[in-house]
Amino acid sequence: MPASGEHHPAFEEYCECIYELREDDVDVIQARIADRLQVSRPAVSEMIRRLEAEQLIEVIGGKISLTEGGIVLAEQVVRRHRLAERFLTDMLGLAWADAHHEAGKWEHIISDAVEAAIDRVLGSPTTCPHGNPIPGSRYLAPASTPLCDLLVGQRFTVNRIPEELEFTPGLLDFLEASSIQPGHTGVVTAASPDGTITVEIEGHHVGIGAFASARILVMA
Ligand SMILES: [Zn+2]
Repeated sequence: MPASGEHHPAFEEYCECIYELREDDVDVIQARIADRLQVSRPAVSEMIRRLEAEQLIEVIGGKISLTEGGIVLAEQVVRRHRLAERFLTDMLGLAWADAHHEAGKWEHIISDAVEAAIDRVLGSPTTCPHGNPIPGSRYLAPASTPLCDLLVGQRFTVNRIPEELEFTPGLLDFLEASSIQPGHTGVVTAASPDGTITVEIEGHHVGIGAFASARILVMA
């Protein structure tokens, strides 16, 4: 493990990133990691070499996957990130985007004892505020479908805003302000051929672009 003191120990950051790309069904190649972490391609290839040397990842034909040790590390960081997000929104009242940003620091410094205490105080939540499963919790995925697959007039309950959208600049602010939040129920009022979906949800009329509507998961 790298020396701490920094808020973003690189090994944790990369293992988390690889884990979340897989979770979103994205093929993990160096370019995707560079996009998600907003670092240069040479910086990514250097880190990939170090992660391989630490036996945290394997690279086969350009595709990157976590080893067993890499999964253990990733699950710990992702668990702490998602618990921290829950704590920051539910207990401290932070906005979604701020909680996501802050949790990116907390995930590296929370100890086992603090992690257990946060989990206890929150009553062992199974997801982050955006509906993404907390590793190690008893999360059971409900049958869900992308919002863009619904027909006009269909009712739905928001289930999950995948991590990829959490990283899309401005999107968490937009979704929170529009009430597109797990547990909220709405109805599709229009769908255009370009993938834009218009919904009515909790009294808001909202247009959701193709990129987000293909990724937001709902229960119909
Ligand atoms: Zn989240």
